[in-house]
Amino acid sequence: MNFEGKLAAFQGIKTPFFYYDMELLQATIDEVKACIKDTNFHVHYAMKANVNEPLLKQIKKNGFGADCVSGNEIKRALSVGFLPEDIVFAGVGKSDEEIAYALDQDIFAFNCESLQEIEVINEFAKERKQIAKVALRLNPNVDPETHQYITTGLSENKFGISLDDLDAIFDQFPKWKHIRIEGIHFHIGSQVTKLEKYIELCERVNDLVLHFDDKGIKLTYINLGGGLGIDYENPEKNPIAPFKEYFGNVKKHLKVSPEMSIHFELGRSIVGQCGSLITKVLYTKDGASTNFLIVDGGMTELIRPALYQAHHKIISFAETNLEKKYDVVGPICETSDFFGKGITMNYSNRGDLIAILSAGAYAQVMASNYNLRDRAESVYSDQLT
Ligand SMILES: *Cc1c(COP(=O)(O)O)cnc(C)c1O
Repeated sequence: MNFEGKLAAFQGIKTPFFYYDMELLQATIDEVKACIKDTNFHVHYAMKANVNEPLLKQIKKNGFGADCVSGNEIKRALSVGFLPEDIVFAGVGKSDEEIAYALDQDIFAFNCESLQEIEVINEFAKERKQIAKVALRLNPNVDPETHQYITTGLSENKFGISLDDLDAIFDQFPKWKHIRIEGIHFHIGSQVTKLEKYIELCERVNDLVLHFDDKGIKLTYINLGGGLGIDYENPEKNPIAPFKEYFGNVKKHLKVSPEMSIHFELGRSIVGQCGSLITKVLYTKDGASTNFLIVDGGMTELIRPALYQAHHKIISFAETNLEKKYDVVGPICETSDFFGKGITMNYSNRGDLIAILSAGAYAQVMASNYNLRDRAESVYSDQLT
C-alpha cells in the first residue's frame, strides 16, 4: 500500500472510504504466477474476501479461477468473465436454489461437505439428466493454530466430511449415479502463518489419496483450499505473502501422481494487503488513562477487530514529529467498535486522515449499514489522478 502522491487527492474524497492499491494487487498476483509457472497448480481466487469488480477483473485477467461460497458469488464471478469450468462452489449450507443454479451453469466442482448434501446434489442432477462433478471436502483434523473463529479443519468445526464418515461414503458411492467424485478438497482455516501446518496437511492428503485408490476411486485433482496468512503487524515491510515457501512446501511434500492437478483457493493472501480503510479524525478526547481518537469509520466498515480480535496496523497522515498513544475508536454505539488500543502514532487532530492497513480482505465485504450509516465508497489507485 503505497500512498505516495495520493494524499492530495484523498482530501477531496468523502470519508470513510476504501482505497485499493492496484499496483500492489498486480505485484501480488505476479508473485503467485511466478511460483506456479511450469507446475500443475491452479489458483482459484476465494471471492468471499473481496468482490469489488475492478479487483475481480484484474484477477480474472491474470488467469485465476474463482472459488465461490454462494449462488450470488457464482453470478458475480460469471458476470465479470470467469468461465464456469474455472469456478468451484464450496459452503457447508448450499441452498436448493444455489445447487440448481450451479448445476445449470455446469461449474467445475461442488465441494461437498456432507453425505446429505451429496444425496441432494445427486437428486437434482438426476432431474436434469446431468452428472455433477464433485470434490469431497474432508475434514483433515489439522490444527492451523489461528484464531478459533477462523479455524475450519478440526473435527469440532462444522466444515467438511469427517474422516470417520468416509467409509459410509465409499459404501453409498455406487448408488449415486449422477455424481462423479473427481477430487478431494481441504481448507484448514484462515490467516495461517505457521507454514509447517501445510506440510502436515500434505502428509494427511498423501495417505488419503492412497485410501481412495484402494477403494477404486480415481481422483483427478486435489484442492488444498486457502488460508495463507498475511503480515498484519508489518504490512509495509511484508506487503506480499510468503508464496514461495507456501507453494514450495506443497511441491516438496505432496506426493501424488503428476497427472493430478493441484488446486488452491487463496483469498486473503491475494487481496488483503492492497486495501486500506481511510478515515478521518472527528474528535480527540483525552481521558485520565486513555486518549481517544474518534474517527468517522467504524465496525460497519471493518468488523474484524470486533469479530475476532484482529490486529490492523494504523497510521496517521498528520504532518508532525510528535507522537502520542491513542485508542482509535469508531462512532458506532458498541464498545467493541474500535480499531486499535494503545497505538503510538503521529499526534493527530480533528480533520487528519488515518489509514487502517491490510483491509483488502474480509473488510468491505462484511460492511453493514448498522446505525443506518452510508456505505463507504471504493477508490482505486489507477483511477486517481
Ligand atoms: C474462506 C475460504 C477460502 C479462502 O481463505 P483465505 O484465508 O482467504 O485464503 C478458501 N476455501 C474455502 C473453502 C473457504 O471457505
